[in-house]
Amino acid sequence: MNLNVLILGGTSEARALAAALVSANVTVTSSLAGRVSRPRLPEGLVRIGGFGGVDGLRAYLVEEGVTHVIDATHPFAIGMRTNAVDACAQVSVPLVRYARPGWVEHPYASTWHWVDDYDEAREAAQRLGKYPFLTSGRQTLSHYLSWTEAHALVRVVEPLDHDVPDRWQVRLDRGPFTVDDEVALMRDHDTDVLVTKDSGGAYTSAKLDAAHQLGIPVVVVKRPSPPRGLIEFAQQADVLAWLGLDASA
Ligand code: NAP
Repeated sequence: MNLNVLILGGTSEARALAAALVSANVTVTSSLAGRVSRPRLPEGLVRIGGFGGVDGLRAYLVEEGVTHVIDATHPFAIGMRTNAVDACAQVSVPLVRYARPGWVEHPYASTWHWVDDYDEAREAAQRLGKYPFLTSGRQTLSHYLSWTEAHALVRVVEPLDHDVPDRWQVRLDRGPFTVDDEVALMRDHDTDVLVTKDSGGAYTSAKLDAAHQLGIPVVVVKRPSPPRGLIEFAQQADVLAWLGLDASA
């Protein structure tokens, strides 16, 4: 069978996987949500923008003759994941999840305050400090906006489309960051609590080491539970093997 792979992307793992499939001469299309104005484009074919829910994705799979779908979206992109499970099941296209492991194995993970969602993250951070460094992403900020007395430093990749409380500072930046840079940033801001989510990977993990160095408490939002029955791989070689490709070639 000729492979025609759709990668649901938006992550560095997805880009690396697309490159590996291009090298293996596999037809691959990466799909990006279109949230970022200057996305790092993967190799191979690229499409940008939502599919239009489960129905739209199902139609796309059929029209494009997609043989396999790899959901390599961000661990917190649960809407896309659920749609992919439903659409692929409806047209019997095999689907796997490919995601970097979370930070649960990080050497300092046991010292962090693990919470279930962003409201709990705000409550925990409010107990721990007044100068929070909020790094859980632009789409999560609505959960913190009521904390108007905070001297928050917010780091986001894209400009915000809403106002923030007067004492907040917004910083536009995207990783990777070094531990030294993160230490300097947190010192400058007098950060007394770091709020993040369990994205995993090395790309944005320097802040965790920086917080440890500075003795700053860390609040981490746990990953959402994956849809039931979805096969999940953490290694690219396992994804290639699932596609019937030789990972060592
Ligand atoms: P989401 O809540 O799971 O998805 C919301 C909707 O956005 C989906 O129903 C879909 O629209 C569209 N969408 C999401 N990912 C898409 C993709 N790869 N290709 C085409 N359409 C996509 O997603 P999100 O949390 O907003 O994240 C959006 C994208 O940014 C994801 O691809 C993810 O990998 C990346 N990202 C997310 C985070 C995060 O923290 N959530 C962090 C870094 C990168 P339709 O229903 O119209 O198909």
